[in-house]
Amino acid sequence: MFRHDIIIVGGGLAGLRAALSIKSADVAVISKVHPLRSHSISAQGGINAALGSDDRWEDHAFDTIKGSDYLADQDAVEVLCTDAPARVLEMERWGTLFSRTDEGKIAQRPFGGTGFPRTAYAEDRTGHYLLHTMYEQALKNGIKFYDEWLITRLVVDRGRCCGVTGYNIADGDLEGFQAKAVIFATGGYGRIYKHSTNSIINTGFGCAVAYRAGAPLEDMEFVQFHPTTLYGTNILITEGARGEGGYLVNKEGERFMKRYSPNQIDLAPRDIVARAIQTEINEGRGFEGGYVHLELRHLGAGKIKERLPGIRQIAIDFANIDPIEKPIPVRPGQHYSMGGIASNKNCETLISGFYVCGECSCISVHGANRLGGNSLLETLVFGKIAGENAQNYANSNLFEDNEIIEKAVLEEQKRISGLLERKEGEDFSRIRDELKTILDERAGIFRTEDDLMIALDKIRELQIRCRSVHIRNKGTIFNQELVNVIELEGMLDVAEAICLGAKARKESRGSHFRLDHPSRDDANWLKHTIITFKPEGPRIDYKPVNITLYKPKPREY
Ligand SMILES: Cc1cc2nc3c(=O)[nH]c(=O)nc-3n(C[C@H](O)[C@H](O)[C@H](O)COP(=O)(O)OP(=O)(O)OC[C@H]3O[C@@H](n4cnc5c(N)ncnc54)[C@H](O)[C@@H]3O)c2cc1C
Repeated sequence: MFRHDIIIVGGGLAGLRAALSIKSADVAVISKVHPLRSHSISAQGGINAALGSDDRWEDHAFDTIKGSDYLADQDAVEVLCTDAPARVLEMERWGTLFSRTDEGKIAQRPFGGTGFPRTAYAEDRTGHYLLHTMYEQALKNGIKFYDEWLITRLVVDRGRCCGVTGYNIADGDLEGFQAKAVIFATGGYGRIYKHSTNSIINTGFGCAVAYRAGAPLEDMEFVQFHPTTLYGTNILITEGARGEGGYLVNKEGERFMKRYSPNQIDLAPRDIVARAIQTEINEGRGFEGGYVHLELRHLGAGKIKERLPGIRQIAIDFANIDPIEKPIPVRPGQHYSMGGIASNKNCETLISGFYVCGECSCISVHGANRLGGNSLLETLVFGKIAGENAQNYANSNLFEDNEIIEKAVLEEQKRISGLLERKEGEDFSRIRDELKTILDERAGIFRTEDDLMIALDKIRELQIRCRSVHIRNKGTIFNQELVNVIELEGMLDVAEAICLGAKARKESRGSHFRLDHPSRDDANWLKHTIITFKPEGPRIDYKPVNITLYKPKPREY
């Protein structure tokens, strides 16, 4: 058994930032992949902060709250926006090479749904630069890492978290990790959808582990679909491309966004642009196969090479199109999880000693729709807070009896042996594919009661079939098939929570658009959805939105 004052699960930006704020406690970071393979590495467009004297945190907060369709908790948004400049400048001091203006200041570009060019960037590879900086700092500070361990259970005793169990992917060992406090920074769940911009590892398993341990999930119905993913592969084409002046065109050559958002046009919030593109495709104004064009040619070769080199390379490598010469074919795809493990602005959950930050959490600063550039910011701001608060907790509490962890390890060993010993059954990949397809088809950009009912029925059928999956690979060394099977149960839990929340919410708000209830309904639905795991089936509750700064108004763009 391993023992540390604080265990952080997740080696992306949120987990590493949490680790760096722990100074007076023993901390270890566990990740199912090497930290530099965490999904944060692929962030492209940039990170928001009111850096200049002509921008204010209040304006950043207003854009965030309006963009969230007024579902964000405004006390948490205040924390996000007031702390933003300090966190961005800290990354610069630690070594991130942000792109520059001619005067040598950190360059900032316009992003969707904002009233000001507020998004600081490092070319179109911002996540790459930030994560490398953060990892260097973690090495410099001697943070202990356990790479390629999959955490399978959060161990909770009488409402208090006392550690986790982990499966060593490299050699098949199952161990307990005893801790006074645990932080989950396990990222999003994009890969439960078929068309997603997310890394393969983004299964939402961390959310499911917390959920099964008694931490409720919040606002899971709010799934962000990014307007521009490369047709064919769904690799992200950053909003920064439109921020630099790119625009969308349908097959009739029309800049159709003028019809959907007369003021912000191509830089309307993502939910609006994604729905507009999907409507163009559905109504026959998309190109054959289902896509529209992102036009960049007018920017010129110099600007494309300087500001969008990664996008150009992606288009050349994966679509054989050089955006200097031809428009990029794009369509919407799943991109971000606004919902997650329910938490307050201190990153605390309902379980004592258990903290969350980053994309797996719902704090909730994004409400019903996240603005581009606010997620990287959230990882830094709330990663720091999670680390500080976990440290305070660990320093004023003792370790629980280690027998509790030992018992959990034995149960997990038995469960995993049981999976491997099964001699026949269905292949996991069929179940996973059917899950992804049903979510794309029935719980996507446009939703209806009937579609969500069909999705829920299917998920419940898949949950039953999942219990008799057969694993062909019985090996202990890098048994990826076993890892996939362990995670599949969690993916089904997350999918069920999304569809339950979406079916119950009889309104349209932000990314959640119900064709059968097309208007926002503040009188009945200005509230967060809370879903709690119960052995007899999930329970749905609601909690009020924290409104401190700006009263809800109709959204106009
Ligand atoms: C293509 C793309 C581009 C983006 N660009 C931007 C952008 O420009 N600006 C912006 O603000 N946002 C952007 N985002 C969103 C942003 O990148 C993510 O929300 C953010 O990086 C998430 O960071 P994180 O630390 O919470 O999680 P991640 O970086 O996803 O890290 C999760 C970590 O948890 C570990 N983990 C998960 N489950 C387990 C488990 N059970 N056991 C052990 N380890 C586990 C993983 O190994 C990993 O280390 C983008 C997203 C995508 C998909």
